[in-house]
Amino acid sequence: MAATSLNAPNAPLLQKTHQTHVFLKPISTIPCQTSAKRFSISCSATTQDRLSVQSQSQDRVFNFAAGPATLPENVLLKAQSELYNWHGSGMSVMEMSHRGKDFRSIIEKAEADLRSLLNIPENYAVLFLQGGATTQFAAVPLNLCAPGDSVDYLVTGSWGDKAFKEAKKYCNPKVIWSGKSENYVRVPSFDGLELNPNAKYLHICANETIYGVEFKDYPVPRNPNGVLVADMSSNFCSKPVDVTKFGLIYAGAQKNVGPSGVCIVIVRKDLLGNAQEITPVMLDYKIHADNNSLYNTPPCYGIYMCGLVFEDLLKQGGLEEVEKKNQKKAGILYNAIDESKGFYRCPVEKSVRSLMNVPFTLEKSELEAEFLKEAEKEKMVQLKGHRSVGGMRASIYNAMPLAGVEKLVAFMKDFQAKHA
Ligand code: PMP
Repeated sequence: MAATSLNAPNAPLLQKTHQTHVFLKPISTIPCQTSAKRFSISCSATTQDRLSVQSQSQDRVFNFAAGPATLPENVLLKAQSELYNWHGSGMSVMEMSHRGKDFRSIIEKAEADLRSLLNIPENYAVLFLQGGATTQFAAVPLNLCAPGDSVDYLVTGSWGDKAFKEAKKYCNPKVIWSGKSENYVRVPSFDGLELNPNAKYLHICANETIYGVEFKDYPVPRNPNGVLVADMSSNFCSKPVDVTKFGLIYAGAQKNVGPSGVCIVIVRKDLLGNAQEITPVMLDYKIHADNNSLYNTPPCYGIYMCGLVFEDLLKQGGLEEVEKKNQKKAGILYNAIDESKGFYRCPVEKSVRSLMNVPFTLEKSELEAEFLKEAEKEKMVQLKGHRSVGGMRASIYNAMPLAGVEKLVAFMKDFQAKHA
C-alpha cells in the first residue's frame, strides 16, 4: 500500500465547500501504521471504508453557466469518495501513471461507455485530447485536407465563425452561408445551400452556445467523397446522434460531459494518416489513434470525470432518456418566455432553438442587472448572457436538474409580476 504524507495525521478532517460538507472519520480511527518518517502514514483502509459523505444539495447553487458548467451531483460525490484512494490503489487518479493498468482501465471504460452511448461503430476512432475545441479549429483542416483544398463552412454563430477563420491558415475554406447579418437566429434551409462539389468537408457547429441555435437535422456534403464535420461542444451527449452521418465530431468536455481540459474527437478511421506535413505531433489524429490517446500524458483526471459522467448517462437509460429530460426542461423555459407577452424574448427561430443554451432578453433592459442580482439571491447563478450579445442566457445542460429550470421559471414569473 502506498504511503501518504499528511500534515496532521491524527486530526479529524472536515472539508466544507460551499456546496457539500464532507466528514472524514478521524485518521486515528483508521487502521494505519505510522512509519518512522515524520508525517508519513501508510493506510490499509480504502477511502470508501473511512469516508462518509453527506450531500447537502440545498447548499449547491443552480449554476446556469455555459461552461465550465454544472456537473451531476452524484458524479461529484462519487469522485469525491474516490479522490483520496481510487479503488484501493492507495492513490488518487491524479497521481497515477497514465500507462499503468489502473488508468488504462479508466480510459478504456470511458471509451467503451461513450461508444455504447452514441453507438459509435468500430470504424471510428475515439480520442481524448487536450487544447479545447479551439485547437480542433486548426486540427480539423490540418488532418483532413492539403493546403490548397477547398472546404465549406456553414456559419450559424460565432464559434463556427472562429473555426472558419482558423481554417484559413491551413486550407481554402469558404463560408457557404452565414447568419451574421441577422445576428445568428436561424439555420438555413439545406436545399438552397451552394455547396462546393469539391469540398473536402462541410463544417457546422451543431449547437452555437452563445446564440442558442441548434441543428435539428444535418446537411449532407455535395462532394460524395467529402465528409460532414461538427463541433458538438455544447450539445455532446445531450441526445442520440447518428455518428455515421459524420466524418468527424469534436467536443470540448466542459459543458455536458466533464471538466475543461478534455476534448473528445470521434473520427472515421479512413480519414486518418493524411495530415499536412506541418501538423504538430499533438494535433495529428493518427498518432493519437495509434496510441489510444496515450501518446503523451493525457488529461487523466478529466478523462476519469468524463468516464463517471458517461456511466451516469448510461444508468439514466442512455441518450434517448437524456434527450426526453432535456426536451422537457427546455420546453418549460421556452414556454415561459413565449407566454410572457414580450416581457421576456428569445430571438431564435422556434424550429432551431437550442435544448442546451437558452438566450433571452428583457423588454425593459434596464432591469437586467436587478434580474441577475435577485436570481443570485435565490441561488441561481451565471445567467448573464455572453458579453457579445448581452441579455440573459440559461445553459441547461444534461446535469441541470428539472428542479433548477422550474425554479428559474417560477422566479421569472414572479419577477415579471413585480415589474410588468
Ligand atoms: N465551440 C463551441 C460550440 C463552444 O461553445 C466553445 C466554448 N464555449 C468552443 C468551441 C471553444 O472551446 P474551448 O474553450 O474548449 O476551446
